[in-house]
Amino acid sequence: MKVIEKIREATAANDDRVVFSFEFFPPRTEDGVENLFERMERMVVHNPTFCDITWGAGGSTADLTLEIANRMQNMVCVETMMHLTCTNMPVEEIDNALTTIKSKGIQNVLALRGDPPHGQDKFVQVEGGFACALDLVKHIRSQYGDYFGITVAGYPEGHPDVIQDGVASAEAYQNDLAYLKRKVDAGADVIVTQLFYDTDIFLKFVNDCRQIGITIPIVPGIMPINNYRGFIRMTGFCKTKIPDEIMDALEPIKENEDAVRAYGIHLGTEMCKKIMASGIKTLHLYTLNMEKSALAILTNLGLIEESRISRSLPWRRPANVFRVKENVRPIFWANRPKSYIARTLGWDQYPQGRWGDSHNASYGALSDYQFMRPRARDRKLREEWAVPLNRVEDIYENFMKFCLGELKSSPWSDLDGLQPETRIINEQLGSINLKGFLTINSQPSVSGVQSDSPSVGWGGPGGYVYQKAYLEFFCSPDKLNALVDKCKQLPRLTYMAVNKQGSWTSNVNKTDVNAVTWGVFPAKEIIQPTVVDPESFLVWKDEAFEIWSRGWAKLYPETDPSKKLLEEVESSYYLVSLVDNDYINGDLFSVFKDI
Ligand code: FAD
Repeated sequence: MKVIEKIREATAANDDRVVFSFEFFPPRTEDGVENLFERMERMVVHNPTFCDITWGAGGSTADLTLEIANRMQNMVCVETMMHLTCTNMPVEEIDNALTTIKSKGIQNVLALRGDPPHGQDKFVQVEGGFACALDLVKHIRSQYGDYFGITVAGYPEGHPDVIQDGVASAEAYQNDLAYLKRKVDAGADVIVTQLFYDTDIFLKFVNDCRQIGITIPIVPGIMPINNYRGFIRMTGFCKTKIPDEIMDALEPIKENEDAVRAYGIHLGTEMCKKIMASGIKTLHLYTLNMEKSALAILTNLGLIEESRISRSLPWRRPANVFRVKENVRPIFWANRPKSYIARTLGWDQYPQGRWGDSHNASYGALSDYQFMRPRARDRKLREEWAVPLNRVEDIYENFMKFCLGELKSSPWSDLDGLQPETRIINEQLGSINLKGFLTINSQPSVSGVQSDSPSVGWGGPGGYVYQKAYLEFFCSPDKLNALVDKCKQLPRLTYMAVNKQGSWTSNVNKTDVNAVTWGVFPAKEIIQPTVVDPESFLVWKDEAFEIWSRGWAKLYPETDPSKKLLEEVESSYYLVSLVDNDYINGDLFSVFKDI
């Protein structure tokens, strides 16, 4: 979705809602990239309107920026705006970048001229390229019509090129404004400003823009001060005015990083309060790839709250323009959403995906992608799961510890620890794991709980949510037989079980689709975002079994006996999916008594 539409949608509601966004830059190392994505995951749960990724000076990070933008939009599922500059970019390369992001479902570009490449003083138009951001905006509109939302840069103090001895002359400032208006007239629909520390200058700039007929949103760029030297370097480079009181406050604490950061949070908060008091409802935070200060400012402003994190669906809604209407998923990949997205990339029938006609789309084949892990996660898994396994009970114990929250990682989950709803049943999960029912997915039953409940809610306030109790686990053939016997006496239970070789047993038909989560909201049809179905289960089972070797056994040296034990379990156990369809009176865990 275009950022302008999101801003309009949010600010049109007459409820004083203020929206915010985060800027990131491409890190230099692979580890840095992985760390950034982990940080981003933690930040996007607070629902920023968009996140943007910069284009390295002179195009130095072009490929990486494109790759990060794609991952942000499609895997992190956050509305992404990619910066694009004209520096060193002939028009073919500009088009290459634009068609690439278009094909990835990204709809937002921050169109910039760019700074001169490293070591040069002045911007030089490359042969076959553009002279300024205005040219780029015109090009995007003429070649891509309305597909892209276009944001441009605005400079409350004037562009650094025209700032002399700390200020832009009145004439240069007016020229800059007039030029900004031309960028808007050419098709830009949002302005994000250069950083500033004098809020009055920003408010005057907004007023001046309005005076000359610029009506689109002007989003203030706020850069929290994280450390003194970085602050001096950045404001020097951008020729930003620093009010005396800020220098006076920083001078005595400049060697104390914690104190500087605390002051930066205080200052950022006060600046935003003043901006919001003037009626502006959008804030853009230059995070410098750090999360603490940006989140602290938003918390101080009351715009985010740890306990108020809300989900629009039980899974994070995709941002990709082609699948933004997706509304149903099988439950199996609940803890591996990125793998699910990767395996369904080719589906072109959203909102229904394959659920409209289940014979249509098939899942992408299992690939190395499903087993790649960021290094930090790999380290955590090694620490927690590469423990000596002498008997099968040692395996049970690891599963149990994960359910009790004693381990933070699991080879079967991409998420950080347990989902909030799992904590409702973690004691029961712990005890069945110790019996050899090795759970990898679950949900408690819910009957008509308010949709803004912090543990099981989704879809925002005003509705009611429901779900059937669900368990998915590995167990030995003996245990499966005992369970099947029990299920025969309890017709409210439906199950599917399959081993690695494909031996199948179940009490449902192969074409049955069971809704296990649904919600009732004012003035809407019933929303039914999670299902259990045999066809997807049979696709998922290959991935689930493969994780024994490629996710867990791989953590051990080749000759380690633990590895052999894991392989035995992988080849002999069944994967079981069990639903208690009585979401009002059922008790799924009672079935494990006496087994
Ligand atoms: P333009 O809008 O083209 O303007 C540049 C200057 O030239 C202005 O003073 C303008 O008034 C003047 N000018 C240009 N053409 C005309 C004309 N025809 N008539 C009159 N005046 C004219 N840099 C990066 O390398 N990568 C990034 O990712 C990046 N992200 C940024 C994000 C934001 C929000 C901002 C504010 C800046 C960012 N920059 C980035 C820096 C930016 O590239 C530089 O400030 C650059 O010098 C100008 O880019 P621009 O798009 O503002 O240029």
